[in-house]
Amino acid sequence: MKDTKIGYQTIGCSVTSCRYNKEGTNCDLNRIEVKPMNNYDGSHSGDPAEESLCGSYCKI
Ligand code: SF4
Repeated sequence: MKDTKIGYQTIGCSVTSCRYNKEGTNCDLNRIEVKPMNNYDGSHSGDPAEESLCGSYCKI
């Protein structure tokens, strides 16, 4: 099944320490990569703070 959301989503973000954050509410990038804290496989803890981080973050 084809993903029809590619290119149509917007990314809301309040991480103001990131250079891609726009006005404290949105991400300026067209695409981000969400990654688990422990590289590729994650810890499978179910804790959002460990399992789902923005891998496109870049410090200002
Ligand atoms: S790259 Fe990630 S952390 Fe940075 S503004 Fe975009 S969504 Fe937020």
